[in-house]
Amino acid sequence: MPIEKADVVAHFTKRFGQPPRWVIRAPGRVNLIGEHTDYNDGFVLPLAIDRAVWIALRPRDDRRIAVYSVDYDQTGEFSLDDLRNEKAGWIEYLKGTAWSLQDAGFALTGWEGVLQGDVPLGAGLSSSAALEMATARALAAAGNLDWNPAKMAKLGQRAENKWVGVNCGIMDQLISAAGRANHALLIDCRTLDTQPVPFPPGTAVVVLDTSTRRGLVDSAYNERRSQCEAAAKFFGVSVLRDVTMKQFQQKAGRLDDVTRRRALHVIGENDRTVQAAAAMRRGDAVETGRLMNESHRSLRDDFEVSSDALNAMVECASAHAACYGARMTGAGFGGCAMALIRADAAEDFVAKTAAAYEKKTGHKPAVYVCHATNGAEIV
Ligand code: ADP
Ligand code: MG
Repeated sequence: MPIEKADVVAHFTKRFGQPPRWVIRAPGRVNLIGEHTDYNDGFVLPLAIDRAVWIALRPRDDRRIAVYSVDYDQTGEFSLDDLRNEKAGWIEYLKGTAWSLQDAGFALTGWEGVLQGDVPLGAGLSSSAALEMATARALAAAGNLDWNPAKMAKLGQRAENKWVGVNCGIMDQLISAAGRANHALLIDCRTLDTQPVPFPPGTAVVVLDTSTRRGLVDSAYNERRSQCEAAAKFFGVSVLRDVTMKQFQQKAGRLDDVTRRRALHVIGENDRTVQAAAAMRRGDAVETGRLMNESHRSLRDDFEVSSDALNAMVECASAHAACYGARMTGAGFGGCAMALIRADAAEDFVAKTAAAYEKKTGHKPAVYVCHATNGAEIV
């Protein structure tokens, strides 16, 4: 069962002897389609999910921030006047977010509270972005700041890039900040424009956690980013967003094979993402699923960021008659796949896919239906 407000309030009250002033919730996410497109200024189509990072807090008179992490059973503490990067640990995400907001000119104030989450760590559902957005929302509540989701997402991304040192795109923070209940968001990662997209009637989204986690993701990710930059340069633009499929086909013969396939994935994936949003708006689950399957094939064969476990999971999910489409989600190499299925068969799909995957790989997966929720908010 997902964490609820009462759980976090109980933890806060136990520690501080009174209820919190604010309770913040910022969700993790799954991406329906549009993978490795965000750092190419392209399109993504994620949903905020009912797995989240929560912070319950009250203001302090001084400029300190003190947080007890329920999951780590640890307290982290720092002063807004003396932000030092200790390079490791969950508190760095909070410090980095405070640094980023302060650096952008926001006047912050101190607070204390408890932190608890149920976004699995390192599974590709972006617990780190959820933590950054929960922190930003808490800082905004305590400091009485305006809450502009796109602006805060950019500052959260900056914290992750510059303070934590992970070179991520904008998708994770933006969907965690701006998600909309019962909708996916079509995000233009160039303009940060977001459009809510309803799900086709009678469908459900299922998270398929392979329970594998791969190291070396960062180096492979950075390598893909440089390959995309090299491809853009070849086409005479700064990002692949500005290359059409037609332009690609006219010139791609002169590219080396690897760079050509990397570019083909990104350019095709941008088109598929826009098409998938249109299909969803028409209520066309079959076409949405077809585009998801095609996305997986492209990530596996052309972009080469899938893994045996992810491929096995996608095959097991696709074998079920209720599955419209399935694909790896997130950066890849391990973590989660996801599927769009017929909602009335959800129970059977979950049981059969989990059993088939375990039989095939020997790994015990976590498979669950998820619901689209709002982005970071005071609840
Ligand atoms: P993900 O793919 O889930 O974003 P990351 O490695 O980017 O994986 O981020 C995971 C890190 O975020 C954890 O190691 C931890 O430092 C922090 N984090 C996430 N959720 C929590 C939580 N509930 N409580 C404390 N720290 C958390
Ligand atoms: Mg992360």
